Amino acid sequence: MKLIIASNNEHKLIEIKAILGHRFEEILSLREAGIEHETVEDGATFMENALKKAREIAEISSCCALADDSGLCVDALGGAPGIYSARFSGVHGDDKANNRLLLEKMRGVEDRRAHFTCAMALVRPDGSSVTAEGFFYGLIGQEEKGSNGFGYDPLLYLPEYGCTSAQLPPEEKNRISHRFKALQALVAQLDQ
Ligand code: IMP
Repeated sequence: MKLIIASNNEHKLIEIKAILGHRFEEILSLREAGIEHETVEDGATFMENALKKAREIAEISSCCALADDSGLCVDALGGAPGIYSARFSGVHGDDKANNRLLLEKMRGVEDRRAHFTCAMALVRPDGSSVTAEGFFYGLIGQEEKGSNGFGYDPLLYLPEYGCTSAQLPPEEKNRISHRFKALQALVAQLDQ
């Protein structure tokens, strides 16, 4: 059975291929599968968005499709930016502006607890699905630190490592990240 990853993000593809490895005959990105499709991410939760993306690609391709949706949830902000993480500041994918706005909103806030969430969904051509979630906990720092990773990584301080997610070597982050945990939980269900 072929698996199509509902993404063209090279970084995600490598991570997913390494974990899913032999479980599928072939693992392809949207580009590799020759699919040009943009899902409108209008779900109310990470999981609704992940399922919607995977469902649309499974329907278009008649193959299994895997999709994820992720973001940062800050306790003191009632879970924001949440599903709006990529466009918190108004411009989709502007990490610098998003981080600046988050620091502004957290100025003077004592409770700095936050976590990344990843919802992962695999949909089969018959419409059946397997889903899993993963979390990555930390505290929002007072300033950006580190240059690895992307997005909010420079702002998520990890007390047990004494550094931010952007200061961890990428291989190390990939072993403890929300995406890794979600994928592992999904694989555990597939292997059952
Ligand atoms: P997406 O699910 O890959 O579209 O991610 C949505 C947004 O959540 C990204 O644009 C980032 O702002 C944020 N995000 C998700 N995962 C991470 C991460 O591992 N590090 C930093 N930011 C992340």
